[in-house]
Amino acid sequence: MSLTVIEYENLRKANEKFFAEYKQSFSATLNSGWFILGNGVKKFEEDFARFNTNKYCIGVANGLDALILCLRALKFQRGSEIIVPSNTYIATILSILQNDLKPILVEPDIHTYNIDPLKIEEAITSKTKALMVVHLYGKSCTMDPIVALAKKHHLVLIEDCAQSHGAKYKGKMTGTFGYGAFSFYPTKNLGCLGDGGAVTTDDEEFAKKIRMFRNYGSEKKYYNEVVGYNSRLDEVQAGFLSVKLRHLDEITTHKRKLASLYHNGLKDDFIKPQVQPDFYDVFHIYNVRHPKRDALKEYLLKNDIKTDIHYPVPPHKQHAMNGVLDKKEFPISSEIHSTTLSLPISFCHSESDVHRVIEVMNKF
Ligand SMILES: *Cc1c(COP(=O)(O)O)cnc(C)c1O
Repeated sequence: MSLTVIEYENLRKANEKFFAEYKQSFSATLNSGWFILGNGVKKFEEDFARFNTNKYCIGVANGLDALILCLRALKFQRGSEIIVPSNTYIATILSILQNDLKPILVEPDIHTYNIDPLKIEEAITSKTKALMVVHLYGKSCTMDPIVALAKKHHLVLIEDCAQSHGAKYKGKMTGTFGYGAFSFYPTKNLGCLGDGGAVTTDDEEFAKKIRMFRNYGSEKKYYNEVVGYNSRLDEVQAGFLSVKLRHLDEITTHKRKLASLYHNGLKDDFIKPQVQPDFYDVFHIYNVRHPKRDALKEYLLKNDIKTDIHYPVPPHKQHAMNGVLDKKEFPISSEIHSTTLSLPISFCHSESDVHRVIEVMNKF
């Protein structure tokens, strides 16, 4: 008997349930004849602001732009220092560099994988202007000490929520502690069928600035107030996102169920993600750590189970960072990157898929 391959992700399958609604939405956009900044984007922005308990949501072209535009709107002096986790996807750091600002990397907590609040203060200097935190893998950062530090040192708080749609800390949504930057890249928990992103905030002035910056620095057509960008979410993707958002709770519930199967079923040789009462995790990624990670990945592949690594090379070891960072060694990030393995946990996976992964893994 041969079993089918368990893929790491299958976006066709993960979206199949929504095909009819997507087609309806596309058809409505097509018939409207309005493709940029129309009612579809407005509706999604209202929907997502309501979902995320923010006053404002501004759709932009992608997650990287959401971060770039947040920094651009804040107008920090060139060379200002922005604190950012060393354990993140490189986009977070790129957004700082794209604004001629200086990224100061801070190591993660080895248990949560997110920025270690205890290590932030020693990185703060007179040039530090902002804390840019990342809620990695779908787990919120430990926000109480982070918010307190931001207040104490008068730092702006920016949250990279590209992996944390719907994640909460003490009942509060990520993207509501500071300025929130979201990605709707297709593999994200709330993914569209192309590129998309958004900024969330309760600050009316800031929302107005982001709205201008995403559209040539213009509030009124053909009148330009600031040196803006073109970074707009388009009507077709906004329509798909409104469809997907209606099902996001279902997607999150499914992923959390699969995560609990892993949590309870996997033997303790694997270091599993921490489960704590203050955190409502949405498992963009379910990772385990193991000293023989590469052998484990190979073994699973031989057993028709595909996995992924987030990420094989930490940001500080990327060629792009040559000459950019003062500090060169980030041992905790390096340790995570060399031992982490991401297991299948998509909306396309069934509970029996996960039971099979667990069974095979427990024989490793
Ligand atoms: C995906 C991702 C981004 C970038 O989002 P894009 O939409 O691909 O530009 C930024 N930060 C993190 C942590 C991400 O996972």
